[in-house]
Amino acid sequence: MPHKHNFGAGPCILPQEVFDQAAQAVLSWGDTGLSILEISHRTPEFESVVAESVQLIKELMQVPDGYDVIFVQGGASLQFGMLPMNLLNEEESAAYLDTGVWSNKAWKEAKLFGNVNVVASSKDANYTFIPKDYQIPTDAKYFHCTSNNTIYGTQMQSFPKSPVSMVCDMSSDILSREINIADFDLIYAGAQKNIGPAGNTVVILKSEILGKVNRKITSMLDYRIHIEGGSMYNTPPVFAIYVAMLNLRWLKKQGGVKEMERRNVEKANLLYAEIDRNTMFKGTCAIEDRSKMNICFVMNDASFEKEFLQMAEAVGCVGLKGHRSVGGFRASMYNALPLASVQVLVDTMKNFEALKK
Ligand SMILES: *Cc1c(COP(=O)(O)O)cnc(C)c1O
Repeated sequence: MPHKHNFGAGPCILPQEVFDQAAQAVLSWGDTGLSILEISHRTPEFESVVAESVQLIKELMQVPDGYDVIFVQGGASLQFGMLPMNLLNEEESAAYLDTGVWSNKAWKEAKLFGNVNVVASSKDANYTFIPKDYQIPTDAKYFHCTSNNTIYGTQMQSFPKSPVSMVCDMSSDILSREINIADFDLIYAGAQKNIGPAGNTVVILKSEILGKVNRKITSMLDYRIHIEGGSMYNTPPVFAIYVAMLNLRWLKKQGGVKEMERRNVEKANLLYAEIDRNTMFKGTCAIEDRSKMNICFVMNDASFEKEFLQMAEAVGCVGLKGHRSVGGFRASMYNALPLASVQVLVDTMKNFEALKK
């Protein structure tokens, strides 16, 4: 059966060659005579997988010296709490930009550990834009933002000049565009939106920011323990890291993040142009904040939505149903989604318009 056009928001589509290689490694991995699913994480073979994955992230994202790259579990959701637990003392205050469900969850978790100052929020407008007019207090311990709002389809096109340590949830647009890592002291991302399968979380952080809180931290939630353990303090998600490595190799071979950004711009332009042209559809977000990863749109007449979804499904487009808090449609177009898939969706929108005229 041909592979569907997977517009799902996550877990993400991965390149076909990554699926093929991963499938092969499940049966028999390299010269080990074992499946990747049964190999010990303490073998030199797997240690080299972790080392290569870290190296590829550093290379592809141009991570400067002084940063560590670690793999942890618990998803981006665990980072909402782990981050303030490691960085924020109870009497201190952290600044948060509230741009969607995920950033909202992030600051609510941070409140368990210290004071939170929400510097701006677009919640009253159902998060259809990114607030830009705000001040980051100079006495904040750090400033937290969400680079791409997966549910609402908005994306920070630029980052503020923060007077304090900037930390960012990049779960849904990491490796999709060039980013200046030096602007951030910590970046985290659940792997399943652009890096690999679920079960792995990437954290890129400056180790000098650690060790400054006075609370006790349980080992599994202490960044320093994972840095010291080389992401192998305990058993890591072996298969998830292996497949991430395959995907990172693919990404490098394609021309790296710069090339991904070029493709992502091309794909997003194609779909937004059709949303804006087609008389039956409209976008849901402020144009200047539109995401290139998750594109949200609705129909002018919502009663056609079910029929359009069926028509799209009939040509192999899946995962298009919008999140319940926005409705309509969401086309997630992560790195591995080909331009041809976007063209199929655009053609279906055109056909649907013609059908109803
Ligand atoms: C999906 C997502 C999360 C939650 O990720 P989990 O790995 O499921 O915990 C957090 N933040 C953003 C921006 C996301 O897209």
